[in-house]
Amino acid sequence: CTHNESKTMVQTALQLPSEVWNHVFGYLSVADKFSVRTSCKYFKKLVDHGSLWKDWSVVLGFQNGSYNSQFWATLRRRKVTSVVVRSTKAKVWKQLALSLPTLTTVVIDQSSQTSLDCLKDFTNLKRLAIRCSRISLLLDASTVYQPQQLTHLSMCDVTFPTSAMGRFISAVSQFPNLTSLVCHRMGIFEETIWMVHSILTCLRKLKHLSVSIVHTLCAFHNISRPNPSPLGEAGGAPFLSSLELIDCMDHSLPEDAMRLMPGLKRLAVFYKSLHKEMPSPDGCHLKTWLSDLPQLSTLVIVKGPPVKKYVTSIPATLTSLTLCVAGLSLEDMEAVSVQVPNLLHFHIDPWPSHLGAHTAQIPHLFQKLKGLKLRHEHVPERDFLQLHQLLDLEYLEILDMRPQLSELIGKLQALTEYRLQVTTSPHRRDVLSCPCVCQVY
Ligand SMILES: [Zn+2]
Repeated sequence: CTHNESKTMVQTALQLPSEVWNHVFGYLSVADKFSVRTSCKYFKKLVDHGSLWKDWSVVLGFQNGSYNSQFWATLRRRKVTSVVVRSTKAKVWKQLALSLPTLTTVVIDQSSQTSLDCLKDFTNLKRLAIRCSRISLLLDASTVYQPQQLTHLSMCDVTFPTSAMGRFISAVSQFPNLTSLVCHRMGIFEETIWMVHSILTCLRKLKHLSVSIVHTLCAFHNISRPNPSPLGEAGGAPFLSSLELIDCMDHSLPEDAMRLMPGLKRLAVFYKSLHKEMPSPDGCHLKTWLSDLPQLSTLVIVKGPPVKKYVTSIPATLTSLTLCVAGLSLEDMEAVSVQVPNLLHFHIDPWPSHLGAHTAQIPHLFQKLKGLKLRHEHVPERDFLQLHQLLDLEYLEILDMRPQLSELIGKLQALTEYRLQVTTSPHRRDVLSCPCVCQVY
């Protein structure tokens, strides 16, 4: 715009109280906020208000060595509390601690002992993720300023100096207030069920636990110790409500493993292989696990055994279901709908196969859905538009969104009288969640 036009624009902007602008900017996406920042100094100042950047994380690559003081001042104005750091240099970590001393969440994307040793400088640290260490790392209470303050610890592809479980357990038990613990691919050689048992015994406040399965040799597997007994109120984490298993095989955990934690509300199982590659001679453990979880409300299954093997055990208490299972048939969907008539959130993704015209059956099978995530490819238009019959549907996420779809989405939204919100990109991920689970959330 011309000089005069922009002058008028600024004058109009100044007439409105900053709270009004703050409210307006609250509706913008991060990308839009960045555009607004570049329009004028006044807007730049308003957009950088801390209230507009809540839960926003910044990825610091330090490609050119360091950032200038203006950059850090902007982050401080936005009250940034969460960062992802992609550098192992001590100098960089010292600069970060000086510039943003109040950080509460730190994700170390390429970890080294140097970066770990700098963590003590962040006195407010509550959530820590460590990923991809090339060398083994020493982590214990002395690594952070206040071990009691740590509530979230996530370790993925990180190894300890020893593969013995005892050392690992004694390290994590030094963070007694952990509510969330993720330990993936850490090179610990121990039956997974014993690892889960040991963790639950020492971390009494744990609500969420995510572990990757250790695949021991068959011979070793067969001579394993008897299964641990249920922990109960006195024995271990009475609050554990969410369990996530990565790299799972159906027989990775004993059939009665869930009796250890019957209060689970959320179970997520990421299988290592497709069901075709998975012969299961003596039944399906997942079926038994599900029948031992009467309070389950969220279930996530990625790959794994055929749905028909466990569907009759899915508890009716379920309100949220994710099925990323190839070859999912209409019969499977019908069987699921019989089990969970009150399903509210459904993420269905049979890739590399597809639902095709069966998509039109979803409104009849799952009438109460509020949220739905699916793929669009191979679904005929008229079948896709049948989704408007879901009268309570509030949001639809299209997993394979392409620009050409906007017309179709417009038609669907018109059929729902613009009640339906269609998201085309995945929801913002929690910065702590690791690549192992990015397929789903
Ligand atoms: Zn992971």
